[in-house]
Amino acid sequence: MKYCNHCGQELVDDAVVCTNCGRQVGEFGDNVKTTGSFGWAILGFFFPLIGLILYLVWKKTRPMDAKYSGYGALIGFIANIVCLILFDGLTGNNNVQFYLNLIR
Ligand SMILES: [Zn+2]
Repeated sequence: MKYCNHCGQELVDDAVVCTNCGRQVGEFGDNVKTTGSFGWAILGFFFPLIGLILYLVWKKTRPMDAKYSGYGALIGFIANIVCLILFDGLTGNNNVQFYLNLIR
């Protein structure tokens, strides 16, 4: 329960306008989910490309989910490169050089 800041009327928690005096008591859009889901970070980690796409699509409409998927994608991407370099070091292969040649 919360109370109106203006007249003290008892109100439901998600009330935006006081039922007694009619003045605004909460932010519009307050009940829109603003916390993202950490699951998107995990998805982005394993599928950086999908994470990046979700980030671009959600940037405006779901900023928290976009942030999670974007970070997941970034970390996943870096982890991929690190793994590639480590793998090269262990096996003596030169995959990194191979990919760099592809980019050039
Ligand atoms: Zn009121």
